[in-house]
Amino acid sequence: MASSPTVLMRLVASAYSIAQKAGTIVRRVIAEGDLGIIEKTCATDLQTKADRLVQASICSSLARKFPKLTIIGEEDLPPEDVDQELIEDGQWEEILKQPCPSQYSAIKEEDLVVWVDPLDGTKEYTEGLLDNVTVLIGIAYEGKAIAGVINQPYYNYQNNENQKLREPRNDTKAGPDAVLGRTIWGVLGLGAFGFQLKEVPAGKHIITTTRSHNSQLVTDCVTAMNPDDVLRVGGAGNKIIQLIEGKASAYVFASPGCKKWDTCAPEVILHAVGGKLTDIHGNALQYNKEVKHMNSAGVLATLRNYDYYASRVPQSIKNALVP
Ligand code: AMP
Ligand code: MG
Ligand code: MG
Repeated sequence: MASSPTVLMRLVASAYSIAQKAGTIVRRVIAEGDLGIIEKTCATDLQTKADRLVQASICSSLARKFPKLTIIGEEDLPPEDVDQELIEDGQWEEILKQPCPSQYSAIKEEDLVVWVDPLDGTKEYTEGLLDNVTVLIGIAYEGKAIAGVINQPYYNYQNNENQKLREPRNDTKAGPDAVLGRTIWGVLGLGAFGFQLKEVPAGKHIITTTRSHNSQLVTDCVTAMNPDDVLRVGGAGNKIIQLIEGKASAYVFASPGCKKWDTCAPEVILHAVGGKLTDIHGNALQYNKEVKHMNSAGVLATLRNYDYYASRVPQSIKNALVP
């Protein structure tokens, strides 16, 4: 007889449904036309109505079902009652049918830390580069990222020029028939799902890096990799998707600025398919609840050939980026 799903698998199944709902909110805010943009620390560090609504939706929905979780969201929001309309109670049944990797089967709710980036790629969102945007829900245990969900609200955006701003239905449910959007999920030891794994052709070095948060260090590090091509796109989630779908071979960001909620979920998806994400020195990132939020020593991630890229990070850049 099948045993009942573990806490981890129930959490991932809920996070999947919650991330889908988040995607509909992200699209709805664009469709309504008022982004409510606020500058946080500077003109490239923004918050929109979508960042606020989605964080409230994700954090409240998770907390209702899993009251003992530690949930850390990117946005600083005043405590207020969340509109019932923002609460998602569903869980994706396909995930509940999957076996929980045995090393995680005894995990208790209070042992898990959830890192939430309600909208990754906000700068690009405000500029209409909508396919750069993702919603990230990362799950950590004993300081390690072990499960994650990524919703890409505008997946198919470029392929669907005529439909690009049209919500399939004027409500807040995006089912599997939705014209726009997709959800990717993964658990270490089980795998990652919701996309087709693809690799960049052998021998090609295509670097993906920031478009909105560039610096001399970032440019110098990318140049030192001797790339065949450089892609400058928004979002940490988006760049990891480029790695697993064969569009880029390495994500290189030799700068502080990226935070734990940016890397937690994407790292899991990448690791679940055999890739590697570290800081620029090669250190694993830690996700326990006490850790500082900033990834001060940058990000280096690849699906394959990690050592090629790691070996080309100049010592001067390592010296400039203290973990
Ligand atoms: P990017 O590759 O520029 O899209 O950055 C990936 C993630 O890190 C996004 O969530 C950015 O908002 C965040 N990020 C990177 N650099 C900075 C920065 N200098 N200030 C604020 N956020 C940053
Ligand atoms: Mg982000
Ligand atoms: Mg964000």
